[in-house]
This record gives sequence, C-alpha cells and structure tokens, in this order.
Amino acid sequence: MANPIYDALVGIHRDNAKPFLHLADGTAISHAGFASLVGRIAAVLRAQGVEAGDRVAVHAAKTPETLALFFGCAQVGAVFLPLNTAYTLDEVSFFLGDAEPKLCVCAPEEEADIAALLEGRGRTLSISADSTGSFADAIAAAEPLTTVTDRGDDDLAALLYTSGTTGRSKGAMLTQNNLLSNTRALAAEWRFTADDVLIHALPIFHTHGLFVATNVMLAVGGSMIFHQAFKADAILDDLPRATALMGVPTFYTRLLASDRLNRELVSHMRLFVSGSAPLLAETHVEFEARTGHRILERYGMTETGMNTSNPYEGERRAGTVGFPLPGTEIRIADDSGQPLPNGEIGGVEVRGPNVFAGYWRLPEKTKTEFRQDGFFITGDVGMIDEDGYLHIVGRAKDLIISGGFNIYPKEIELVIDQVEGVVESAVIGLPHADFGEAPVAVIVGDETARPAVEAAVTTSLARFKQPKRLVFVSELPRNTMGKVQKAELRKQFGDLLSN
Ligand code: AMP
Repeated sequence: MANPIYDALVGIHRDNAKPFLHLADGTAISHAGFASLVGRIAAVLRAQGVEAGDRVAVHAAKTPETLALFFGCAQVGAVFLPLNTAYTLDEVSFFLGDAEPKLCVCAPEEEADIAALLEGRGRTLSISADSTGSFADAIAAAEPLTTVTDRGDDDLAALLYTSGTTGRSKGAMLTQNNLLSNTRALAAEWRFTADDVLIHALPIFHTHGLFVATNVMLAVGGSMIFHQAFKADAILDDLPRATALMGVPTFYTRLLASDRLNRELVSHMRLFVSGSAPLLAETHVEFEARTGHRILERYGMTETGMNTSNPYEGERRAGTVGFPLPGTEIRIADDSGQPLPNGEIGGVEVRGPNVFAGYWRLPEKTKTEFRQDGFFITGDVGMIDEDGYLHIVGRAKDLIISGGFNIYPKEIELVIDQVEGVVESAVIGLPHADFGEAPVAVIVGDETARPAVEAAVTTSLARFKQPKRLVFVSELPRNTMGKVQKAELRKQFGDLLSN
C-alpha cells in the first residue's frame, strides 16, 4: 500500500521538527507542521467530496496553503491543477470547462464568477494572499486526515496546462512517477541535502517553482525561504542565509542590476540554477565576474519536467543546457524522427520516466507528438556539440523559412547580442513579398549601436540570414516565466516588411 509522492515528500517528515518554510513575517513552518497542514487540507478535500482521480484547480496567490494543496491532493489521490494567476476569467473558463474540477480554490474576489463558471458541477473555496478566506477557515477547523489513498507510479498526480504559445493550451498529464523520478534525479544531480536553504521566489503554478524547487527540497528535508514574488532587494537580503537559488533568467539580470550583489553577499551560497528560458551568455559571464559563481543552466518543459542540466562538477558551459539527466535520453532528429549526428541542428526529442502520459482528453494530438519508439517531440530546435552539451536554438515554430532557406533566429541573435551597446535581441520572421518570410531583429539597446550591428551581421552572416530591418526598443515582451513572447512581437511588427 503506497502513495509514492505523498510517502517520499510528506509522509517521511511527520516527525521532522526542522523548518521547511521560512515565511516573510519571520515565522517558520516545520516539516512536521507542513505534513499536518497537508493532512488538514486532505480532510477539507474529502469534506468537499473530492475523490481519487478528481481534479482540484487552484487560481489563487502563492501561500503555504496553496503550496500544500498539491500534497493534500496527493494524499487523497486527486489530480492537482494549478492555473497561472495572470489568467483572466475568460481563460480560466476554458480550463475549468476542459478539466472539470470537483473543486476550485480561488481568490475571494473571483469566487462568485468561478462558481458561476462551474455551473454547479464543482465547488469553490477562497483564499487571499494573506492566507484568509473560506479555504483557510476550513483548514483551521479540520483535523488532519490520517489515511493516505493508495496510488501507483502511473496514476495521475497533476494536470499542468502548457503556456499555449502554439495554438490552444493543452493539459499535460503528469504521473506520480514522472514527478518523483525527476525529483530524485535533480536532488542527486545538484547535490541537495537537508542542510540546504533554497530561496523560493518562483510562481507555484508552473513546473519550475512547483515541482523542481519544492519537491526537491521536500525530498531531501531541506528548507525554503518563501517569497510571494521576486523582488530583487528582498532576495539580496536573504542571500547571506541561503545556500541555493532557482530562478528564471530575469532574476539574474535583475540581481545584476543592483550594486549590492557581490562576492561577500553570496559567500554562503553553493548553487544558482537558471531555466525556463534561455540565459544570455553575457549574463552568465557577468554573474561569474561579480560573484565568482557560474550559474547552472538546465532545460525542461511542462510535459517532461527537467531533461538536461549542466554538470554540478565539471564545466558549466554558457549558452548550453548541458547533458541529459540520468535516466533521460535526448536525441536530435530530422522531421521524420531519424537521429542526426552531433553538430547538426534538428528537433529535440526526449524519452524517459520524466516524460508525461499524454495530453488530457486529446489522444490524437498526443499520438502526433510521440515517435513510434516513445520519444516525445518537444518542439524545440537544438544541437548537441562534440562534447555532448545540448544547445537550444529556438522553438520549431520560430524557425524562419526565407526563400526556401532555414534560418534559426538564435544564430542571428547571438551575433547581435555581442555588439557593444546591445542588451539583447529577438529575431522574428515577418511576411515578405519576395521571400515569403524574412528576418527582422528587435533589439534592446542604444540606437547608436545600429552601425555596429549592421557591420556585425554583414561580416558574420550569410546574406539570406541578415535581418531586413533592425528595430530598437526599450524592452522585449516577456511572460511571467521570463520567456520572450515572439508571437507578440510578430503581431506588433506584422506588416513592417510589406509596406
Ligand atoms: P514551459 O512548458 O512553460 O516550461 O516551457 C518549456 C519551454 O521553455 C521549452 O520547450 C523551451 O523552449 C524553453 N526552455 C526551458 N528552459 C530553457 C533553457 N534553459 N534554455 C532555452 N529554452 C528553455
């Protein structure tokens, strides 16, 4: 009788008095306290009629309760469905219709609307950022549930919707073993122990903050300094008492923007991890110069958890995402799934215990995303170099086909980003009368860098790859995980080449 996630991450800590969550008000929740919170939430779920296999949605602030909700779901065998807090009610309406949750925990101000959206098919409870509301009240009144529902490795633990940058957002079905195998691989790979103190400033509706950070720290019995959101000054205040930080690239550029970041401030730190979006090689270099630490970049996605990581010991190579995690296989393949030799660019495909069970209620779509031999087609374009490091070149949908030639935006971006005065760039393909599509570079930096950028692209890139226009802007549109929204840029500059 077992429940792998609950047993390995919560059940083992029932008598563990060590702190798990350090909160902003100076108090802490111990591992045992967290297990009790999880038990009370499990009791609330039961009282709401939630059964094994039912979905439980959450569209609410990051609090200890909303974090513990995932594990409460695990205890009763329910499927956790976290929704990006930035989603509007219109968007939430789609997810609730698609996933049909039995319960939705939401912000108090949304409760009436969400209850209406559920049309009586599911219930609501509310919680606000300061942990008040009917969900908090129900937890306070509950006795911890002592029973744990049996679950197997292949039972669903969570349903995470993809960010939907290509077409409709799809629910990735993640099993107990998808999550736990990845947790174990990462904890070992990154040498986490009970002595670690992780700064947690990521959102908890996404795989990075929810599974990578939280599950790893629970697995090893470490602790987390729990921030509701990323605020550079608050993070800088905590660095001296922490050992690790997991962040998206924007965390690192924002920390670098502060004079307070220096070697002394991070002398207690052992690891800085970055992922969810490409880390500029320049940020990597600058961070090392300022702190003496080489950021460890890793690569993953909602559907697969983490796939690759730069080595903990050994060279962490800027601009690469490292090697496959133990148990995970990565290959670069052509459009028909034929593996390509090292050095060639193609689709990134992945196979392993971390790879999801399919898209929720989309069996046909699921089939088209997997090869016969079980490899998942990630939609990322990459290359494995002669030393085995994986380089992500972009998303397949961002590939520009100009006059029949393939252009990988990253190649152009790397040339432009090296120019003095350029902070970063995003190259997009726009409709072009002659070539079908042609590259345009959107550049963050000083307009005075224009001649130098022109010179760099002319000397370094074949003519068909040279951007037809250089547009200077003050910043690139990004989502909460730090990903540049190229679709947004294509919309904004859509007709630049057609008139
Ligand atoms: P998500 O499912 O929202 O986590 O997005 C996953 C996508 O983010 C991947 O398919 C990649 O395109 C991108 N991504 C994640 N980590 C990295 C990284 N270290 N470098 C480049 N792209 C990344």
